[in-house]
Amino acid sequence: MEPISIPSQSVPVLTSVDVCVAGGSCTGVFAAIRAAQAGCSVAIIEAQNRFGGTAAASQVSIWHSLFAMDNHTRIIGGLTQEVIDRLGKRNAITLETKPNPSIYAILNTEELAIELDEMVLENHITPFLHSRVVNVWRDDDGRVAGVIVAGKGGLFAIKARAFVDATGDADLCAAAGLALWRNQEVQPPTACAKFSAWPQFKEGIGTLIHNAAARYNLPEGMVWGAFSPAKNTYMLAGTKIPELDLSDGVSLTVAEIEGRRQLRAIQDLVADAGYPRPILEALPSLIGIRDTKHIQALYRVTTDDILYGREFPDVIGRGTYRVDVHSQNPPGSRFLYLDGREVFISPHKKNESGHWRDPALPTPPFYQIPLRSMIPAGVDNIITAGRMIDAESGAFGALRVMVNLNQCGEAAGTVAAMAVAQDKPIPDIQYRVDLP
Ligand SMILES: Cc1cc2nc3c(=O)[nH]c(=O)nc-3n(C[C@H](O)[C@H](O)[C@H](O)COP(=O)(O)OP(=O)(O)OC[C@H]3O[C@@H](n4cnc5c(N)ncnc54)[C@H](O)[C@@H]3O)c2cc1C
Repeated sequence: MEPISIPSQSVPVLTSVDVCVAGGSCTGVFAAIRAAQAGCSVAIIEAQNRFGGTAAASQVSIWHSLFAMDNHTRIIGGLTQEVIDRLGKRNAITLETKPNPSIYAILNTEELAIELDEMVLENHITPFLHSRVVNVWRDDDGRVAGVIVAGKGGLFAIKARAFVDATGDADLCAAAGLALWRNQEVQPPTACAKFSAWPQFKEGIGTLIHNAAARYNLPEGMVWGAFSPAKNTYMLAGTKIPELDLSDGVSLTVAEIEGRRQLRAIQDLVADAGYPRPILEALPSLIGIRDTKHIQALYRVTTDDILYGREFPDVIGRGTYRVDVHSQNPPGSRFLYLDGREVFISPHKKNESGHWRDPALPTPPFYQIPLRSMIPAGVDNIITAGRMIDAESGAFGALRVMVNLNQCGEAAGTVAAMAVAQDKPIPDIQYRVDLP
């Protein structure tokens, strides 16, 4: 249809701060906390009713290893460890006792949301929930000087000197007209859900779904899940919506409804297979989104940078989580480990194992995340943190997990605060993070 024009309007400015963070998963909250701790006034804007993003709104409950490939040398600390400690005091987390490449901690994601509320308030950050950044406001010099936010009462503005885009989809960068790109094959979104009375399956839920996939119109792919720390609910990540980029509202609507249809179909097929019907206890308030748009940054991380543990002068984070790319064809997930192993996991078949490189070659202790991969080109007061990172598909498959993006959040907040304090463009800020 023909576009319509809307008249220009005045909107109230609700606050003016040093640093404004758009998006409030742990990534965004950690950015806000670090900026506040550096002495900045900070506002954070989150579209959902709670902080925590994919963990709290989409129920994804697993954090991966904080250690190097020797399983001993700590590479991640900071606010990630602080949240683990805080949840530990409330019995809201379980930690794996043995080295495990798939799990380090299982979080009670409801408790996480409350913990993040407390951390935001303790650090005197001004929160805006149920609020979505929809545009930017530019000053007379054309510089991004504020964001336009759609809230419950209508549009409002927040002025700031520096911005952190932690929206996952790079909404703030898109509004600022910055260049974005997307992978040819976008990793599929998944509606996770929590169930009680989750049966003990003889054949595995992946096999059950595979056997009934055609009958229930279920796309195939990776299926996994985890019991909550109290073991009373099971979070299943078993649905998928192939080939949809959920960075626009129409696709998001289609995917939310289709995700819930698939959840009911899984309950039905479990019951049809002769097991007690699992009881649906909680739906996500936002479908889990793996991959949408990426920024064009000062540096694009390559898959080799990750797999060979390339060192960067502007390292701001480290990780060991394997390259993990979900695919529909063939259905499953391909894991490439830093020690040279390659494993393809299918929902219903034996794992296929091999090596992507000669295993006799040395294993890097970890990979590094360069600050430049978070700084969009073409603007001087916006930094990003999160899954919009500029990384090739394989590199993104490793970097996208929360313990990595948490570090990006902390670095983004620190760098935004440094840019404000030094009155310098973000790309000119020199910053690196040493091992904790
Ligand atoms: C099903 C699934 C399973 C996964 N499994 C794991 C796992 O086991 N372990 C792991 O570590 N990682 C896992 N991941 C990956 C990981 O969860 C995500 O890559 C990561 O959480 C992304 O973090 P983020 O902060 O970039 O974005 P998000 O978590 O998407 O957070 C973005 C936040 O910004 C808000 N927002 C968006 N747009 C706006 C706007 N315009 N204005 C204001 N707010 C906005 C959103 O509401 C959200 O709270 C999984 C992902 C999925 C989908």
